[in-house]
Amino acid sequence: DTGLELHDVGYRYPNSDSAVFERLNFNIAPGEFVALVGGSGVGKSTVLRCVAGLIQPSSGRMQAPANTAKGTRPSAVVFQDTRLLPWRRLRANVGYGLAGLGLSKSERDARIDEVLALIGMKAFGERWPHEISGGQAQRVGLARALAVRPHILLMDEPFSAVDALTRSRLQDELLAIWKRLNMAVLFVTHDIAEAAYLADRVCVMGGSPARIVFDERVPVEHPRA
Ligand code: ADP
Ligand code: ADP
Repeated sequence: DTGLELHDVGYRYPNSDSAVFERLNFNIAPGEFVALVGGSGVGKSTVLRCVAGLIQPSSGRMQAPANTAKGTRPSAVVFQDTRLLPWRRLRANVGYGLAGLGLSKSERDARIDEVLALIGMKAFGERWPHEISGGQAQRVGLARALAVRPHILLMDEPFSAVDALTRSRLQDELLAIWKRLNMAVLFVTHDIAEAAYLADRVCVMGGSPARIVFDERVPVEHPRA
């Protein structure tokens, strides 16, 4: 696993005259927690979509983690709006990404139990998405991503829509889980305090077309150390 490397990556939406970003360079080592920060509209989600393979960069070169083992994916995404399917129970939502990975029914069930336990929601598998709180829905979104054992977990403003107390709890839960799993994290946020609290390294995007204007290890000691 070589981690993630972006070399001079650019992206322009097909319906747009100008590039969102150009000559973007940064990398994430295996197991590293990197926050990508920047103002609204600067292109953070677009970077994340490129890394996730949902869109192809218009220029440059990107090396993403390779898919090694059966039953895994190179990356998985957690969205701000969770994107849980309302007509499926939580277990089915968590197992959604496991289809097509070559796992048996019992292996999939075991995987679902494992990640529900990891996020502290073992007892909630038979509930429907409308029967849980916003914070719990974010935990389930995280569980769905973790179920495919990604090399790199991609998170797009995952805690921006929850109240401050719940957000603070979710941040600490995420750090505890990250420390237990051998997984890199790319965490997109507009909140610099959140980035500095969570990440080993903070990258800031700015300009138009955007570039990485700041890329440094978090310089302060903080509680998780
Ligand atoms: P951020 O995540 O930093 O808020 P985005 O990556 O969502 O920024 O958007 C970056 C720029 O690309 C914005 O100017 C946005 O309007 C534009 N954009 C985003 N999605 C699309 C799309 N599907 N088609 C055209 N332009 C888009
Ligand atoms: P939070 O403070 O995390 O936002 P809520 O006040 O929304 O929590 O919910 C508190 C508890 O009530 C949670 O354990 C949640 O599972 C449960 N709950 C929330 N909404 C519903 C619902 N629509 N049906 C059943 N239980 C619910």
